[in-house]
Amino acid sequence: MGFTAFKLHPQIMAGVEALGYQTPTPIQIQAIPPVLQSHDVMGLAQTGTGKTAAFVLPILQRLLTGERGKVRALIIAPTRELAEQIHTSIEDLGRATKLRSMTIYGGVGIHPQIQKLREGREIVVACPGRLLDHINQGTIRLANVEVLVLDEADRMFDMGFLPDIRRIIKHVPAKRQTLLFSATMPDDIRKLVHEVQRSPVTVQVGHTAPANTVSHALYPVDQHLKTGLLMELLKHTDTESILIFTRTKHRAKRIGQQLETAGYKAASLQGNLSQNKRQAALDGFRNGSYQILVATDIAARGIDVSSISHVINYDIPDTADAYTHRIGRTGRAAKTGDAFTFVTREDEDLVRSIERVLGGKIERRKMQGFDYAKSAPARDSEFARPPRPPQRRRVQEKPKAAGGHAASHAKPKAAGHPTGHAAHPKPRAAHPDKRTSPAGHGTDHRSHAAQHVSGARSHKPRTSR
Ligand code: AMP
Repeated sequence: MGFTAFKLHPQIMAGVEALGYQTPTPIQIQAIPPVLQSHDVMGLAQTGTGKTAAFVLPILQRLLTGERGKVRALIIAPTRELAEQIHTSIEDLGRATKLRSMTIYGGVGIHPQIQKLREGREIVVACPGRLLDHINQGTIRLANVEVLVLDEADRMFDMGFLPDIRRIIKHVPAKRQTLLFSATMPDDIRKLVHEVQRSPVTVQVGHTAPANTVSHALYPVDQHLKTGLLMELLKHTDTESILIFTRTKHRAKRIGQQLETAGYKAASLQGNLSQNKRQAALDGFRNGSYQILVATDIAARGIDVSSISHVINYDIPDTADAYTHRIGRTGRAAKTGDAFTFVTREDEDLVRSIERVLGGKIERRKMQGFDYAKSAPARDSEFARPPRPPQRRRVQEKPKAAGGHAASHAKPKAAGHPTGHAAHPKPRAAHPDKRTSPAGHGTDHRSHAAQHVSGARSHKPRTSR
């Protein structure tokens, strides 16, 4: 089946062709027809499945006719990076339509946003906090909204945004089309679906897209040897671009610095960065000037870099579900990727639940020539013990973007194993959207329900020697 089956307007097909999409993904096949027919749709799909185009294409089709200059489609996303990513998709797919989209999120000046709203936009992609600021100041009018999209609803719940969402929805006409996308379906999201949607058509794709093309491997290692093992692994692995996950933002920062010191083109992404620095890190990762990005789960949310060849879990994620989200960053579309996870003895329960979700045992690997017997440093340091258990606190980070790739090896400019330890991290209020939310970095409070990763698991060792 091709895109022609959807009978999209030639101006929209021009966008599909410009992006080189040949065949619709499963979520697109299932979701586009009912959305085009103005049904409410509840899509169970995670990032990496093509869900953005699944709602963007029918929205563009709908908005092609009718009034311009009024906000007719409102898309709400949990993070500014995801908002930017959706906005970019709208611009790319809708270029020939002349429909105008803009993003709204905090941490950047409000006046340029007000200016754009005054000029007139048909599509707004917003994070909840700043959108509420605009609503409260009367700088946005939502009375003409025909389509409301809640993207990554489970993440918005995780980040404590549901009260904001409910407040926002009061300002949107009751007569509207509502599309809700979520990777999982915890009870609170089920409740939200009942509140905001009318007889929604449910479409569902397993997490097959990323999982099918990703090979997984575990590297058992003591906590204090993780950084050494990481350096060794990088030395012996052919990579395009690598996303490394840590459980805390402090660790993300430190490892980013250590990699840089060791000569790698690396950056870290965590909540304490200014928006400019954050954007520079993301842009650099997308265009290949950084080959390694170190991030926490929340900071990495929505990162869409199509050429990520390796995801390395320096710290195992808190839940099996978070694991599938992390590896969803590699092996996107038809590409393949490797997911390496460092595991300590304490991680065994989590490993078992990840294996249950993946439906098979994950290969354990040992790095040849690496000294696993090296004892822990006398002075206990941040990196010699597991990170603190996740704490709920009012913090929202801000992830993402979309992009291209570089295809060279992440080889260091110079050798050397950086050492040095910093003080134990203090939880500090990062902020994104000016608002805060009760999500700790690296935490994932989602339920294990609806974890349906399926697909082949070829645990092939690709390039480790
Ligand atoms: P998403 O799940 O919306 O974040 O999309 C994941 C990636 O797949 C993005 O890089 C999209 O540009 C890409 N994509 C979406 N639909 C298609 C398609 N039909 N064919 C090829 N790539 C696609």
